[in-house]
Amino acid sequence: MSFAQQLIDWRRELHQYPELSLQEFETTRRVRQWLEEAGLRFVPVSLPTGVVVEVGQGEKIIALRADIDALPIDEAVDVPFASRNKGVMHACGHDIHTSVMLGAALLLKEKEAQLPGKVRILFQPAEENFGGAKRLIAAGALENVSAIFGMHNEPGLPVGAFATRGGPFYANVDRLVIEVNGKGAHAARPQEGIDAIVVASQLVVALQTVASRSVDTLDSVVLSVTRILGGNTWNVLPEKVELEGTLRTHRQDVREHVKARVNAIAAGLAQAFNADIQVHWHAGPSALVNDAQWAAFARDVADWHGYQTKEADLHMGGEDFAVYLEQIPGAFVSIGSASEYGLHHPAFNPDEALIEDASRYFALLAEKALLHA
Ligand SMILES: [Zn+2]
Ligand SMILES: [Zn+2]
Repeated sequence: MSFAQQLIDWRRELHQYPELSLQEFETTRRVRQWLEEAGLRFVPVSLPTGVVVEVGQGEKIIALRADIDALPIDEAVDVPFASRNKGVMHACGHDIHTSVMLGAALLLKEKEAQLPGKVRILFQPAEENFGGAKRLIAAGALENVSAIFGMHNEPGLPVGAFATRGGPFYANVDRLVIEVNGKGAHAARPQEGIDAIVVASQLVVALQTVASRSVDTLDSVVLSVTRILGGNTWNVLPEKVELEGTLRTHRQDVREHVKARVNAIAAGLAQAFNADIQVHWHAGPSALVNDAQWAAFARDVADWHGYQTKEADLHMGGEDFAVYLEQIPGAFVSIGSASEYGLHHPAFNPDEALIEDASRYFALLAEKALLHA
């Protein structure tokens, strides 16, 4: 079997058995088994899921990272290797990333004797819920690592295309939960209650003004309300409505300013309508900030490798690779996967043709980075 076919077969097997964040037990077992068969050396990390291997010798260490988890989505792609775990799907292409880094591990293993240092390859659990990088770091995965590299497939780019940028790349991610507490009443006697649904509705509309009317138009901000829950029948005004949503920014000062505006609007509406509104913020990963030099280096190697490269646009998504880059320098890159449907869509269907080529790129990048670290 060709190397490319091997990687595609592995990807398809991972794709058929996707697992949610921190439940990647079978994925971990498979990845371990394939790496073991290829003779890779495991770095012990005391985590229930995830795998770390090392190849080469010497003091210098460069790290590569793949994420291995999937999403709670029902797959709507009609392929023979569609998800067999109902309600779970590799809709972000982490199966692709995993097979790319499996390939890189095998390629590096072949030339282990010539490597001017070590390459540590992290198969990270729980990217989607933004907890995995932190856990791996706590387990020692970054110890003595000089620089780290990782990828995300980019459905909007063709296969063979590559993009990255120095400085901020992916966004600061915040989740917010808002509780609107009114007063229940008979729906026919609203004057006796405080209508939490009406207050919540005003709040959703008022929040639209934050990005559009109180932030510099040149700064990137997304504030979305994504869930609204309240009431359970037709003739009762509910006591409480819960809203949930997300804030995405690239600059810390903008992030703080928007949070302050949301809190102020909620407090003002609460007072105006005699309701009680509680805003709870849950910080996700901070903005992913690529090291300028390593990003330029990764792009140079990509040019040399034969990718069509370009400067990446700012991305409003979150990516917990950011957590590694808070500790050590490195670069995160986008590689074209040419899917008609985007990430997290039930019909997301990346082109597997990117896998082998990306494996060769990351093996080359790690080797060249060892010479520069
Ligand atoms: Zn994702
Ligand atoms: Zn992803």
